[in-house]
Formats: sequence, C-alpha cells, structure tokens
Amino acid sequence: MFPEIRMRRLRGSENIRALVRETRLSVDDLIYPLFVVHGRRVREPISSMPGQFRFSVDELLKEVKESYGLGVKGVMLFGVPKVKDELGSEAYSDDGIVQQAIKALKDAMPDLVVIADVCLCEYTSHGHCGVIRNGDVDNDETLELIGKTAVSLARSGADVVAPSGMMDGQVKAIREALDDEGFKETVIMSYSAKYASCFYGPFREAAESAPAFGDRRSYQMDPPNLREAILEIQLDIQEGADIVMVKPALPYLDVIRAAKDRFLRPIAAYNVSGEYAMIRAAGRLGWLDEERAIMEVLTGIKRAGADLILTYFAKEVARKLGRMA
Ligand SMILES: [Zn+2]
Repeated sequence: MFPEIRMRRLRGSENIRALVRETRLSVDDLIYPLFVVHGRRVREPISSMPGQFRFSVDELLKEVKESYGLGVKGVMLFGVPKVKDELGSEAYSDDGIVQQAIKALKDAMPDLVVIADVCLCEYTSHGHCGVIRNGDVDNDETLELIGKTAVSLARSGADVVAPSGMMDGQVKAIREALDDEGFKETVIMSYSAKYASCFYGPFREAAESAPAFGDRRSYQMDPPNLREAILEIQLDIQEGADIVMVKPALPYLDVIRAAKDRFLRPIAAYNVSGEYAMIRAAGRLGWLDEERAIMEVLTGIKRAGADLILTYFAKEVARKLGRMA
C-alpha cells in the first residue's frame, strides 16, 4: 500500500518506461491492404481515405517495393474489375486484375507474402458477396464460386487466401477446392468474425463495392454479439482455417481478446477503412496528434491479442518503427 508502493517509480524516465513496457508493436505484425485496378500508371487517390490510392499493377509494384523495403512482409489485395456482372466472373478469371497483380508481385518479390481477399462483392453488379436468389445471397451456390476464386488466386501465386464473405462453410469449401487442385500448402486466413459494420464505408468507395440494394446483415455478424463470434471462429478452425480474423478491430477489442484466450491459431485484426479515416480526418482538423493516435490504436489492438494487424497505416508505421530502432 501507499506510501511503500509508488506506481510512479517505474514511469520516471523514457528508459525505465521502455524497460517495463509490456506490448511492442513490430513491423513483423503488419499487413498492408491495397486496391488494384486495370490500366497503366494509375495512382488514383481515394478521397475518403487520404493517403491511400487505387493502383494499376505497375504502380502497385512500386508501392509494394517501398513497403517491403520498410520491412512490411505481407500485403492484402483487393481488386476493382473492368466489368461487374451478376456472378462476379472476374473474381475467378485467371487474368483477373488481382491475379495479374499477384503474378507481378511474386515475380518481383518472391518472398513477399501475398494475401488475396476471396469474395465476390467487388466483382458483382449488385455488390453483394454471392449469388442472388429471391433477393438474398444464396449460401451454397456461392460456395462453388468462392472455391473457384481461391483456386484461381492460388494458381496465380497467392500464398494466402482470405475468404471475407461470411458464407457458412466457406473455409471447408475453399480447403477442399485448393487440395483438389494440389494447393495443399496455400494458407487460409478467414475473416471469421466479420461484423456488419458502418466502419467499412470508405472501403466501399475504394473498391466501388457498395451493395446496390439492401445491406449485408443477413450474412455478416450483428455487432452486439460476442459468443456468436467465438462459435464462428471455432467453426472456421474446424473447417481448416490457419489464421482467423476479427473485423473491424477497434469496436471489437473484446472479441480479439476472447479469441486469443480460447484459440491456438494466430489471430488477425483488421484496422478497417473507417478507423483509418477517423484518425486522418481528426488529424487534418488539428484535433488529434495523428502519429501518436496511430501508434496508440495499433498498440491497443496488439495488446488486445492480435498477432497480425491489417492496417492502411502499415507503411508509415514501418517508417516510424524504423526511426525508433
Ligand atoms: Zn464481400
């Protein structure tokens, strides 16, 4: 008790604080999500995500060479197709935009970990994550297309495929499809607990993937639920997920912690576009110290239990960590 115990003793200098620091963000934790479009020399700013761009493959290569050079070992790719249709055909076309990007990245940087998002919403004319039947996404019909998409991405050289559509049985369908085609070593990182969140708003502008009707609440999770998230993660692990994800990160830190305490698989957390945009906006208005806010938020996500953090801040955090080292 006070006065024998004085908590402030261990806070007196930066060096003593460093010695007793419990959580450290590392460049090894970071995955950089990127948007790729058709064309050449395209580096198109995304207005709701200042500092982020849609890249053509040639520009993407430059961007990733830079982030890889800073120590960011993984990238996550999202594609904006040339044409969208009812069945999202470009998602599983071997010359789809993400497939082209994967080949180019792996040719230039064979050791880079390339993660490809597996979903149909960026590719469908209606913007939903699967095949529409009677006004809703048909789960089982969608699984076949998701399996095809994963195989096509693996064939292009993706190290990791990341199903994000929240279809029941999607991890099992992908594992079987990959194994059937000989891609036994392709990793599955599942968006296991993906909530129907408003924080995806800026992403939808970036990927042009807002649903044309309705919303995604019939397949993504209801934000108030925690125990359901545990069951989703457990099912994905049983189906063969190698890494499981909680998305978004900030409003769901308790879910990250609960997953970390229960499961032995690596836990990924997605610091989503809206979380990025909030900090950028407040920074621009002079209401927040942006750099400190970024470090505090990402450290908080790691402290909650995330082993991997997907963040649009990856490049600047890597740069900052490099300066601190
Ligand atoms: Zn989707």
